[in-house]
Amino acid sequence: MAGNFIREIVAHDLQTGKHRRVVTRFPPEPNGYLHIGHAKSICLNFGLALEHPGGVTNLRYDDTNPSTESVEYVESIQSDVRWLGFDWGDRLFYASDYFEQLYEYAVQLIGQGKAYVDSLSAEEIRRHRGTLTEPGKDSPYRTRPVGESLDLFARMRAGEFKDGAHVLRAKIDMASPNVNLRDPTMYRIRHAAHYRTGDRWCIYPTYDYAHPISDAIEGITHSVCTLEFEDHRPLYRWFLDNLDAPCRPRQIEFARLNLTHTVMSKRRLLDLVGKGHVNGWDDPRLPTLKGLRRRGYTPEAIRAFCEHIGVQKRDGVVEMALLEHFIREDLNRRAPRVMAVLRPLRVVIENYPEGRTEELEALNNPEDPTAGSRRVPFGRTVYIERDDFREDPPKKFFRLAPGQEVRLRYAYIIKCTGVVKDERTGEVAEVRCTYDPETRSGGPQSGRKVKGTLHWVSAAHALDAEARLYEHLFVKADPDEVPEGQDYSANLNPNSLETVLGCKVEPGLAGAKPESRYQFERQGYFCVDADSTGSRLVFNRTVALRDSWAKIEKAQQDG
Ligand code: ATP
Ligand code: MG
Repeated sequence: MAGNFIREIVAHDLQTGKHRRVVTRFPPEPNGYLHIGHAKSICLNFGLALEHPGGVTNLRYDDTNPSTESVEYVESIQSDVRWLGFDWGDRLFYASDYFEQLYEYAVQLIGQGKAYVDSLSAEEIRRHRGTLTEPGKDSPYRTRPVGESLDLFARMRAGEFKDGAHVLRAKIDMASPNVNLRDPTMYRIRHAAHYRTGDRWCIYPTYDYAHPISDAIEGITHSVCTLEFEDHRPLYRWFLDNLDAPCRPRQIEFARLNLTHTVMSKRRLLDLVGKGHVNGWDDPRLPTLKGLRRRGYTPEAIRAFCEHIGVQKRDGVVEMALLEHFIREDLNRRAPRVMAVLRPLRVVIENYPEGRTEELEALNNPEDPTAGSRRVPFGRTVYIERDDFREDPPKKFFRLAPGQEVRLRYAYIIKCTGVVKDERTGEVAEVRCTYDPETRSGGPQSGRKVKGTLHWVSAAHALDAEARLYEHLFVKADPDEVPEGQDYSANLNPNSLETVLGCKVEPGLAGAKPESRYQFERQGYFCVDADSTGSRLVFNRTVALRDSWAKIEKAQQDG
């Protein structure tokens, strides 16, 4: 199991009796779809609670910013968390449900002289803040009488002022070396409708103020967040220490997940979707949970990946190949094998009786004896992969070529006797072969060895299909590595999606439901896409068979 310092903290707090049970939360802002980085946080938070008797995890929408949030996002987040395999029971909360309480706590702080209404403009506030090396300057409104701040704050709420006319600030220390403690903003005026509270509010709390109090209201014991909030931790504590808060959650930070060849921030994802670089939030090229799901990823593989990477205290980047490794492992165990030809080439077996069909037995999953077998039809004409034939084979090409023999998987050994060419293009249109009837799998000569085994589909029985083959969305491991003056979109991979029409798949796939996953023998793992219709199946390639991760790992070990 990968190192997990947060697990140790939690176990220690239970052992020492600091807490009797663990309460964690997953606090997404409903301003976009969840991605694999969120999965890391979900697995961590729900995992911590599940490891201890009585532990619970709250799903809390951190919805304090009216302009970017919506019900669409709220719903997608719930369906994604559920799909990943986690259950919040009845513990569904919204920070926006705490607006009244947050307001009252703010009034308390003003009353104690620990918060004040500032009437400087945003620009002036910025200039007063100082820098990392220079202390900030007090606002002239910092010494405003408590009564005046209370009155102005009430009128801010009542809608008497325009956006930006005033803000509420915590009175901490303008000279603090931590800029987060230089009288941070607690409330802003925003005349904007909120997707849940409508027009009831025109002042909205900041994340820094709302978050610790939401945690305290819910009795969170361990508030796990990403590293960029490390410098905010003293502020998180300050609010809890200075308010009559019901409990004192502990904030613990861990490194966010970054993956090579993709982008993860919602702002970037929104940009890719908005500009049409991808086809929506569930585009199989995106690292969103909806995208990964459509691509064919399983929740089990994503959870195993998250468990494997563990949690760190320093930012790093994980190879996309590692994520691919986990889906391969999972599907290798579970996905039924089928034969599908992506780029078909006709093969006519001249000595096989015209009109005859045999049903040949094929294993559903050699990795899983309980998966059983199925029958696949075989006939005089079959399709093989265009790549599996060469008229002029290079050395060690153990597939089909004039005069060469190969085995058709689960069927016979065939020998190529010639080709038929397209008169116009000169391309090979058809391969002519003979078969050896003694070599049927399970038959008398089935032990005869040939170097290559090919997958195939009977032409008379094949179903038509479309295959969507994916590559990385970005050509560079770090999409931000661009020439001066260009942005990350310069690194978009023009070949990230290849649509292959006219594929031929075995007839048993008729009626396969979206999200069904298969191994196409010798090709990779594929998942039925929701675009499939009764007459035409569409498959997404989840991942190719080639185990690039094993190679990387080996290279690392050797190096
Ligand atoms: P983004 O930068 O993608 O917009 P965010 O942090 O603003 O992400 P939130 O909706 O606020 O998104 O995130 C909810 C939770 O998920 C937070 O606790 C956040 O720390 C965590 N989280 C977000 N991105 C990652 C990531 N890449 N790795 C791990 N945890 C993440
Ligand atoms: Mg956020």
